[in-house]
Amino acid sequence: MTYIQGQTGEWEMVIGLEVHAQVTSKAKLFSGASASFGGAPNAQVSFVDAGFPGMLPVINKYCVEQAVRTGLGLKAQINLTSVFDRKNYFYADLPNGYQISQFTQPIVGTGEIILDLEGGTSRTVGITRLHLEQDAGKSMHDQSPTETFVDLNRAGVALMEIVSEPDMRSGEEAAAYLKKLRAILRYLGSCDGNMEEGSMRCDVNLSMRRKGETKLGTRCEIKNVNSIRFVMQAIDYESARQVEVLEAGGTIKQETRLWDTGKGITRPMRSKEEAHDYRYFPDPDLLPLVLEAAWVEAIKATLPELPDDKKARFMAEYGLTNYDASVLVAEKASADYFEQVAKGRDGKLAANWVTSELFGALKRLGKTIEESPISGDALGGLVELISNDTISGRIAKDVFSDMLESGKSAAQIVEEKGLRQVTDTAAIGAEIDKILAANPDKVTEYRGGKDKLFGFFVGQVMKATGGKLNPTMLNDILKEKLKG
Ligand code: ADP
Ligand code: MG
Repeated sequence: MTYIQGQTGEWEMVIGLEVHAQVTSKAKLFSGASASFGGAPNAQVSFVDAGFPGMLPVINKYCVEQAVRTGLGLKAQINLTSVFDRKNYFYADLPNGYQISQFTQPIVGTGEIILDLEGGTSRTVGITRLHLEQDAGKSMHDQSPTETFVDLNRAGVALMEIVSEPDMRSGEEAAAYLKKLRAILRYLGSCDGNMEEGSMRCDVNLSMRRKGETKLGTRCEIKNVNSIRFVMQAIDYESARQVEVLEAGGTIKQETRLWDTGKGITRPMRSKEEAHDYRYFPDPDLLPLVLEAAWVEAIKATLPELPDDKKARFMAEYGLTNYDASVLVAEKASADYFEQVAKGRDGKLAANWVTSELFGALKRLGKTIEESPISGDALGGLVELISNDTISGRIAKDVFSDMLESGKSAAQIVEEKGLRQVTDTAAIGAEIDKILAANPDKVTEYRGGKDKLFGFFVGQVMKATGGKLNPTMLNDILKEKLKG
C-alpha cells in the first residue's frame, strides 16, 4: 500500500474506474448502420439513430453476445434478464433526447480482475457491473463561428460500460487494471482496446481518506482520460489537489472534472451533487432482454484461453517466472509468438530471447510483433542452436542481428559464416596454449595470485577465435592449464 505524505499525516487514495469499451461490431446496437471508425460525417446514420418519429430500435444480437463473452471473461455474474432504460440527454448529438442504457438491471453483474503488479505480486479488483448502452454522436463547435455541426456516425454505436469497485489504491494499480482489462477485451475480441481512437475511454473516480480510515471520502470523477499515461498523471495531480484542500480544512465537492493534457491539471466541468438525477425510465420500445442459459453456456464453451490462465500455463509448462509470463501474455500476439519459439524447445531460453533481444529489436525498428522480420519459428531455430551447443549465446547475438537484416535462417547463417562452436577439447587446448605462450609474464602473475587475470586470458582466446569456442569448455580447460 502506498500512502501520500501530507502536512498533517498520511493519506490513502481510493480509485474506482468506469471504462467505456466500444463493442467490435459491424453494426450499431439498435440499428443496421455501420459502426466503423473514420467515415465521412453522417454517412453512417439510420433513421433510428437520427431519432425519426416512429422508428423502432432492434437489438443487435452480436453485441449482446460480446457483452456476455466479456462478462464471462471477467468471471462475472451473467444476468439472464436485463432491462434497457432511457437516460435523459439534452444535446443534439443524440437526437432522441435520451440514451438507451441499462440502469437497475444490467446484463452483467459482479466479477473481478486480477492485477499484475511490480515485483510479480497481484491484487484482485472487484467489477461492479457491465452494461450495454449507446454512444452519442459528436457536436463540433469549432467549424464555424455561428453554427454548431453535428456528426451522428457514432450515435447509437454499442458500448459496454464496465464499472469497477473503488478497490484501487494508486496510479500504478489503475494502470495495471486498464492494461489487464484491455488485454482481456483483446483476447476476447469484444473490443479492440484502442484508447487513441476512443474505442476504450476511461473515467477516473478518486477520493482521499486518512490512513486507517475505513469510510470513503467524497470523490471527484475525471472524465474521458484517453491514455494510460494520462490516467496516471491525472491521478497524481488530483490526489495532491484533494489532500491540499482537505488539509486546509476544506471539503471536496462531488463534481465532474476534466483532465487538461496541455496544462497537466484537472479542472471542474460540472457539479454532480445530485449524482443520479438522470430520470431514467424503462424504454417502452424494448422488452426486457431475456437470455437462455444454454446460449450463455455455449458462449462460455467457446471462450479462448485468457491472460491469467495462459500465464499460469506458461509458468507450469515452460518454467517461466511470474514476471516473464506476465510480460508475454500482456498481448495475445506476443503470447502466440512466444509459443511458436518455445514449442518443443527450451522455454526459459525462448522467453529470454523474445523479451530481451526480440522486443528490443522491435522497439528500435518501431515495429509490432506482428510485423517482426523474424518469425517465431525462425527465432526458435536460433534457440535450438544455442540449446544443442552448436553456437554460444554470444555468437547467437551476432546471428540474430544477421537474421534481422538478411531474413536468412539461423542455421544457414551459422553454416555460411562458419560460426559453429568449437567443442573439440584438443582444438580448444591448442588455442589456449598459443595465448599462454604469448603472455608468459601474465601467466606468472596469475599463478602468483592475481586471479583477476583469468578474464584477460578468456578474452584473448575468444578474440583470437572469433568467439567460437564453447565457453564452458574454454573455462574448464583454461583453469586446468593455468594450474601449471
Ligand atoms: P456515476 O454514474 O455517478 O458515475 P457509478 O456508480 O456509475 O456512478 O460509478 C461510480 C464509480 O466511482 C465506480 O467506479 C466506483 O467504484 C467509484 N466510486 C464510488 N465511490 C467512490 C469513492 N468514494 N471514491 C472513489 N471512487 C468511488
Ligand atoms: Mg460515471
